[in-house]
Amino acid sequence: MARQDETIWADRYSRQTRFAPIGEAGQRKLAGSSVLIVGVGALGASLAQHMVRAGVGEVRLVDRDFVEPSNLQRQVLFDEADALAMLPKAVAAANKLRGINNEVMITAEVADVNAANVSKLAEGVQLVLDGTDNAATRLLLSAVCFRQRIPFIYGGAAGAEGMSAVLLPGHTACLRCLIGGQEAAGGGDTCDTLGVLSPIIELIASMQAVEAVKWLTGNASAIRRTWLSVSLWPFRMRESAIPSGQAGCVYCGDQQSGRGATREDGEIKPEAEELESSILCGRDTVQVTLGRPFELERLAEQLEQSDCAVTVNKYLVRAQLSSGESLVLFPDGRALVQGTADKDRAVQLCRFYLAGQSTGRPKSKIGALADG
Ligand SMILES: [Zn+2]
Repeated sequence: MARQDETIWADRYSRQTRFAPIGEAGQRKLAGSSVLIVGVGALGASLAQHMVRAGVGEVRLVDRDFVEPSNLQRQVLFDEADALAMLPKAVAAANKLRGINNEVMITAEVADVNAANVSKLAEGVQLVLDGTDNAATRLLLSAVCFRQRIPFIYGGAAGAEGMSAVLLPGHTACLRCLIGGQEAAGGGDTCDTLGVLSPIIELIASMQAVEAVKWLTGNASAIRRTWLSVSLWPFRMRESAIPSGQAGCVYCGDQQSGRGATREDGEIKPEAEELESSILCGRDTVQVTLGRPFELERLAEQLEQSDCAVTVNKYLVRAQLSSGESLVLFPDGRALVQGTADKDRAVQLCRFYLAGQSTGRPKSKIGALADG
């Protein structure tokens, strides 16, 4: 940190440390802790802001998407310049957050969270905060959190309604036991069908953030042990008790031993399979995961030769196709095909325009994308 006058920052956390349950000791615990925030759209951006302002030592951000104008109505860390520059959300959020508190170590990962990378992303953190927009990723996070004994703070919102719960390995049931598998959880109302109002985002993110601060400051006994459902319009609030771990569940059963009832450590396969076949709340965008990383410059040249209108920045290439769809390509080998909700069509376009760019035909890891 290089600031001209350090003394003016001395009371930066004074209003928080004066709150008795936190105090100076709690503040030191915050400074020594790290959190993972998965999804940095609406809930995630708000969560990140709370964690960074509160003085959490390390904040890891992961998001697979980039900023678009339709995000600005509710995703509090982004502005018009971010949307015009098509910045990845993780990058744009990190830029803003560093300006808010440069004492915090902030890392930004532009990636899709999946069974292959989730354990590493969550390694060493004290908490995982849910800023995602789909059941498949949430179930994956719940699974890895219960396996690695990390609290998972769930949150979700659509329309003017939202839900939140703290899932504590060793104490509560896991998300799968609470909402069912992806089949049961999927197919519900989404931001895409219902829209979403920004106040419900802020309310749910606040509900998650305060429980995070309780946990990180050593106030575990103060944690709310209920599943909260809120509607702001019309107004209604409901709480129900969260059951303890379910006998027989591979994630939350047999919690005394700290592991699933039957599954060996190191495997989170069922969730991985679900992720592959996930159909999520769509916004006319399909994500196709290709075999290997893209070289953005070469890709941009190739697409220009195919008569696409190409826009490039440091993080992605976007190609407007003559057929009306557009391709947004990330170096990690992902393509977002915008303008269609048809998976076959999306794969067909990738095959046509990206020939020679990957190891061959796109893998069948496809999901319609929501914008949280
Ligand atoms: Zn369970």
